Amino acid sequence: MTKIINGKDISTAIRQEIRAEVESLPKRPGLAVVLVGNDPASQVYVRNKERACEEVGFYSEKYTLPEDTTREQLLDLVDQLNESPAIHGILVQLPLPKHLDAEEVILRIDPKKDVDAFHPVNVGKIMIGNFDFLPCTPAGVMELLSRSGIDPAGKECVVIGRSNIVGKPQAMLLLHKNATVTICHSRTKDLAAVCRRADILVSAVGRANFVTADMVKEGAVVIDVGMNRDENGKLVGDVAFAEVSEKTSYITPVPGGVGPMTITMLLKNTVTACRRIENL
Ligand code: NAP
Repeated sequence: MTKIINGKDISTAIRQEIRAEVESLPKRPGLAVVLVGNDPASQVYVRNKERACEEVGFYSEKYTLPEDTTREQLLDLVDQLNESPAIHGILVQLPLPKHLDAEEVILRIDPKKDVDAFHPVNVGKIMIGNFDFLPCTPAGVMELLSRSGIDPAGKECVVIGRSNIVGKPQAMLLLHKNATVTICHSRTKDLAAVCRRADILVSAVGRANFVTADMVKEGAVVIDVGMNRDENGKLVGDVAFAEVSEKTSYITPVPGGVGPMTITMLLKNTVTACRRIENL
């Protein structure tokens, strides 16, 4: 019988730990969230981040800027937040409106406050294995594994997807835990055969029902990072859950698997930033 990894419960437990840690600190961690424009999904993410900050007792600031915000206005705000003594973490919600260059904005964030771990300095540190911040979604996956007693060491791990925010850093974190890692993408030949080698299969593709039972080894652990809408507008992952869960030892559902972990890891990074900046 497969075990369902409950990301909601694990996330709640970690948030309680963070709340207790925050209460013990002499300075409240502060997170600034910047939203530019009217993207409805981004508005939901930002609202969830605000709520999460309240839940764990952070200080938080939210900046809602109009769609036609100029490059200079946005960079000025980032500069201000870089200098602000109340703020330890800065998050600029992506995607930005087309006329703004996300890379330039990320580069402007002080790496010490880059709690998304998107700045090249932090990306480089992840590569080296000497990091302050972990990229939130891949870090959430690692927590789900470790809190379910699954050790990637020596295991064959296959990551489907090579994006800078999920696939690539996911592969690095698994590698740092001594897994043998294969990264797959749209040009991979015979994807199903590669996936069938996996003891741990992580899918970050963004297509509903992409991972089917024939791609999964008996007894494998399957982690579904995908967040997609099916034809009825329902949130679904990449994995054909009903058929795949017949074969797995552990599997994450969507919703309630990886999703709740991402913001929790952002909170964790903000505590880390606070401790480092304040020398706590
Ligand atoms: P992305 O930038 O679009 O990357 C998708 C990856 O999938 C690419 O590397 C692409 O390969 C690969 N791919 C596409 N079609 C494929 C195919 N037929 N065979 C093999 N590989 C294929 O997406 P992302 O930002 O990494 O996000 C991936 C999914 O995770 C999305 O559903 C997203 O919503 C979800 N997500 C969830 C969370 C969360 O908190 N749970 C956070 C972030 C993202 P190429 O590089 O060759 O094009």
